[in-house]
Amino acid sequence: MKLSSTAITKCTYLGDSTTACGHPTLPGKSYCAEHYAVVYQAGTARARRKKDIRVANTVWNIQDAFNEAVAELEAEGYDINDERWDAVVED
Ligand SMILES: [Zn+2]
Repeated sequence: MKLSSTAITKCTYLGDSTTACGHPTLPGKSYCAEHYAVVYQAGTARARRKKDIRVANTVWNIQDAFNEAVAELEAEGYDINDERWDAVVED
């Protein structure tokens, strides 16, 4: 009889339970087909949230930079409500 001490043959998914699922695993995986899909989707959802946070941070950075630029322009006497302020400046 051939035994491997490292191969996981029964699904280790716990979820809300205190006992592992125990269904046969997918080859080379720690989970059965059903729970592998659950774990995989949880992973991609986490990655998506991280990306959302990165995008949000970028938007906030741009907004901060924009607000700073507006504040600088206003300090220099530009009226951002005046449509002529962004006219091409010839030098
Ligand atoms: Zn399972």
